[in-house]
Amino acid sequence: MLESDPPMDEFDAQEFLGFCVACDSYDRIDSTGHCGECASKLERDLIRQRDWDYSWTAYGTPPELREKLRAEVIARHGAPLELLLETTADRKRRGRGGGRRRRKRKRRPGHGKK
Ligand SMILES: [Zn+2]
Repeated sequence: MLESDPPMDEFDAQEFLGFCVACDSYDRIDSTGHCGECASKLERDLIRQRDWDYSWTAYGTPPELREKLRAEVIARHGAPLELLLETTADRKRRGRGGGRRRRKRKRRPGHGKK
């Protein structure tokens, strides 16, 4: 084979630059559209919810160790969801309040045709 391998510098094949779907920052994002920070938050949320199929960490963890992994995550980062909860709350927060503005017209007394 004469073809040389494409250089794989610091760029991971699964990562590219873009806007994170969770925090909107322009950064390196993974195939799910999350920056590194949000990806790890999401990862922990998935483990908290036992969404083993979606978690990269759990994917490489034997089933008998997953509960241990979950307990470890909760012990270290707490039980409440970090990212998934935020997304749900964000959806609820939508909509700006008060669209109609009423302006009072000033009446000028004494002004009229006579
Ligand atoms: Zn992010």
